Amino acid sequence: MSEKLNINESPFENIIEVKDVRYSYDEETEGGGHEVDYAVDRVSLDVKPGEYIAILGHNGSGKSTLAKMLNMILTPISGNIYVGGLDITSEDMTEDEMIEVRKNVGMVFQNPDNQLVATVVEEDVAFGPENLGIPPIEIRRRVDWALSTVGMQRYAKHAPHRLSGGQKQRIAIAGVLAMKPRCIILDESTAMLDPLGRREVMDTVEKLNRENGITILHITHYMEEAARADRIVVINDGRIKMDGTPREVFARLTELREVGLEAPQACELAHELRLAGLDIPDGIIEVQECAEAIAKLFSDSE
Ligand code: ADP
Ligand code: MG
Repeated sequence: MSEKLNINESPFENIIEVKDVRYSYDEETEGGGHEVDYAVDRVSLDVKPGEYIAILGHNGSGKSTLAKMLNMILTPISGNIYVGGLDITSEDMTEDEMIEVRKNVGMVFQNPDNQLVATVVEEDVAFGPENLGIPPIEIRRRVDWALSTVGMQRYAKHAPHRLSGGQKQRIAIAGVLAMKPRCIILDESTAMLDPLGRREVMDTVEKLNRENGITILHITHYMEEAARADRIVVINDGRIKMDGTPREVFARLTELREVGLEAPQACELAHELRLAGLDIPDGIIEVQECAEAIAKLFSDSE
């Protein structure tokens, strides 16, 4: 197996296409006894191969529901979803096609302890490909490759429960990688980690995106993490509220606050300083940029 997955050779313009999708957890009511509450409501979203998208939205806005539909854990009640050109909402999906979709769109969840199934790291990573009936020699190669890609090869024989949260999540990512996905969805996978663990996971994810071309959908509550994506999608009440680059989205502070979100601290600070009449440029999202803008004010006033 080559070191790179070359998933960018995909013949499709969009690796994922969500078209007018709705989902409701409500029991179906004959005759419409009450108004249906949609957890995801008429969402459309195109994802290009190799994109790195952060998905933001306060609790209960429908992020996990959307993610689970992309991985076929949930089925939309209306609309269509295409993964790699295949309509995964079609009733004609074969068993093989469903397996293909689950391989192509890997999910990493919030709690690292709920995702590890084996008592030895390398067995855990091998679990997915073993279930697919992949020959042992190929599994061996994939496990070694996946563990070295997440920087955990020297823990191959360790017990997962003794690892740190960040290391556990990297093992969970390796388990997904061993399936050779085109896309990885992280559903608040950094939420339970300490700052070091979060950094490890973020660095790993960025490497997979940049070096292996894997498409990333990263659901997060941390604005600083979202700022590192190519694109941010903001979801509120089951609908897409904003979609743009981090600079575009974080410039819309008032709207963000309306949906219970904020911007990265550097962006908030720059905004407050501008309101106070200081000459700070628009579009600041990183601490370094903010510090430089403030330093420039001092040097200009000398
Ligand atoms: P998020 O991931 O953005 O926090 P979810 O997709 O989990 O949001 O939830 C969207 C909506 O669906 C919320 O109103 C939530 O209460 C509801 N919901 C989520 N999971 C279930 C479930 N298993 N049963 C019933 N309602 C659910
Ligand atoms: Mg969620």
